[in-house]
This record gives sequence, C-alpha cells and structure tokens, in this order.
Amino acid sequence: MGKRDYYEILGVSKSAAQDEIKKAYRKQALQYHPDKNPGDKKAEEKFKEAAEAYEILSDAQKRQKYDQFGHAAFQNGGAGGFHSGGMTMEDIFSQFGDIFGGFGGFGGFSGFSGGSRRGGVPKGSNLRVKVTLNLEEVANGVEKKIKVKKYVSCDACEGSGAKHGTAKNTCPTCHGHGQVTRVTHTFLGQMQTASTCPTCHGEGTTISQKCESCYGEGIVKKEEVIKINIPAGVAEGMQIKMSGKGNAARRGGVNGDLLVIIHEKQHPELTRDGSDLLYNLYLSIPQATLGATVEIPTVEGRAKIKIEAGTQPGRVLRLRGKGMPEVNGYGKGDLLVQINVWIPKSLDKEERKVFEKMEQSDTFTPRPDRSEHGFFNRMKNFFE
Ligand SMILES: [Zn+2]
Ligand SMILES: [Zn+2]
Repeated sequence: MGKRDYYEILGVSKSAAQDEIKKAYRKQALQYHPDKNPGDKKAEEKFKEAAEAYEILSDAQKRQKYDQFGHAAFQNGGAGGFHSGGMTMEDIFSQFGDIFGGFGGFGGFSGFSGGSRRGGVPKGSNLRVKVTLNLEEVANGVEKKIKVKKYVSCDACEGSGAKHGTAKNTCPTCHGHGQVTRVTHTFLGQMQTASTCPTCHGEGTTISQKCESCYGEGIVKKEEVIKINIPAGVAEGMQIKMSGKGNAARRGGVNGDLLVIIHEKQHPELTRDGSDLLYNLYLSIPQATLGATVEIPTVEGRAKIKIEAGTQPGRVLRLRGKGMPEVNGYGKGDLLVQINVWIPKSLDKEERKVFEKMEQSDTFTPRPDRSEHGFFNRMKNFFE
C-alpha cells in the first residue's frame, strides 16, 4: 500500500507533544487548504493525508495503537486506507474546523467553502493604507484624515444583493447547503469531495432579481474619509489595525480591517535612533574656543543650548528627555548633540596672519585629555 508514516506526514518526531502535533497539522492544513489550491488534486490528497495523520496522533489511544502496530492497527481487513473507509472533506472540516479558527487570512478568500453554512460569518477583505508622518508628528502623535476607496454595504438593498422587495430563494443546486458533494472512484474506493456550490458561491440562496445599484453583490465601492489617531512614538513599518474599517463583505457578513502602515519621513537635521535623536552640531573655531549660545532643532521647535569655552569636537551632549516618546507611553528618549568644529577652507590675508600667530603660540599645541575624550569613552557615551 505504501502508506506514509503519520509522524513523517506532519513532520514531527515520535515523541512530539500534543500541541506540537496540533501546530504541525495546522500548518499543513493551511498550506494544502482547498481554498488555497483550487482544483489541485495533489494538494487535496495532502490535505486529507494530514487530516488522517492528525486524527490518529491527536487521540492518545489511537496514537498508542499506531505506535505499537503501525498502519496495521487500523486496517481491520478493510479496503485499506482509513479506518472508517475514507474521510471526506466535510468530515475534516466538521472534526477539525476549529484548527482554522483565528486564522484571519481566510476571511479574505472569496469562497471559504461553506463558511456561512458552518456558522462562520464571511468577512470582507482587509484594506492597507500607508500614512506618511514627519518627525514632529511621530513625536507628538497626530490625528490624520485619509481618503480610502473601499467596499461598503449597498444602501439600496441593505447589503442583501436582492432588488428591493424581491425575495431570496433556496439555491436549487445545493438546496441551501452551500456545498456540493462529488463522488469519485479511486483505487482506495469511493471518495467524497465537497466543494463550494458553483451556483450560489456557498451562500445557500440565490437572488431572483438583482439589486440594480450593486448588481446583486450587496456592496458598492465608495470613497470614505477615515480619521486615524496615531499615538506618539510610532516607527517606520508599524501597523495600526482598525477593526471593521476595511472592505464590507459580499452580501452581509462582517467588515474586514483597515491596516494603517506607518511611513516616517526623514527629518532634514535630526536622525532617529529608536527613542533617541541624533544631531550633528557644527561650531566655528571661535565658538568652540570661546564658548557660545547656539540654536539647535528639536521636535518641539528650536532650542538654545550653551556651549562651554574649550569644548572639544567629538563630544556628545545628552539632552535628557528631548528625544522621542516610547510608543507605550512610558518615558522619552534623549537628544544627543554631537559636537563638530567647522574648519575654514580658505582665509584672507588678515585671517591667515591671525592663524599663523596662533600657530606660534604654545596655547594651540594639542594636549588631549585621553581619559575624558578618549575615543572609546566617547563611543560609550554615545551609545549607552
Ligand atoms: Zn444593492
Ligand atoms: Zn448553492
């Protein structure tokens, strides 16, 4: 017969714990899910194979039997194959349907077979929008209004898709089940496959007269302005989920979600490093030598800081709490101001004289204090 080992099918070890087995099955089931692989016979076989393996390995008694006797434990001289003569897709869904619970992705698939029939409510697809924020907006939080084009419930038919005043009929193809069952003959015996009803797309009902506004879809595309409150401290690539603000589902059901993706615009002067901000400050030689009051940019506007006389380039001034807020609302980062000294590239005659005079003076001979301004010390200061 050449049946594959159940552990091998799920890709787990013989000593795998229950939750590991469940996880492994879920992964396989999602990968070979018929909705993801429409018409793919191989995927369908894999899907069934995984379900069969899971049925045995998730049951302590059956698992023990299988460990002891292998596939022979379930063969009872029957037609081989599964202990009860084959598992239909329907069996798999009714027994293990919960394994798909919480997997939002299927909401977006148009025809999650019989979703409405099995008590699940169809969900509209998610909508993604990108919002560009400047550093000040990120620092303070902001309310943004964005225009989105999305599917909303049709007003004319209240989302039913049926022309106002006309009734819905039970689907003649599936008699309201939303699924059709096909029997195929294979070398393993009869096999039943259930698939979404092609007439009603799993809804179980058909419309006698379509709504003219939405052509029977129950949804129409509309532009909507959505207000988004963006908290302070978000970062590039973060997603804010707004439940129920996505596309409406076809003919009833729940709305999908709106996913707001944050894009941070680069500030012309400040560089963000997590919750800290970095600024490269350039002083003139006299400013660094004599001391000065200089202006620097912050997310709250320009600020003045005092530079002490004799400030060496490479020093980093840490302005506590002048950085970015943490997105969780606790604490703020620092603004790190790195001191640079601007060296002029050309001098006039007078200036050259001044510098030549300075060069003669012992005062201008470098005497670095390596303990204070040593490279590693500076790095430590900069990065901690
Ligand atoms: Zn309509
Ligand atoms: Zn039908």
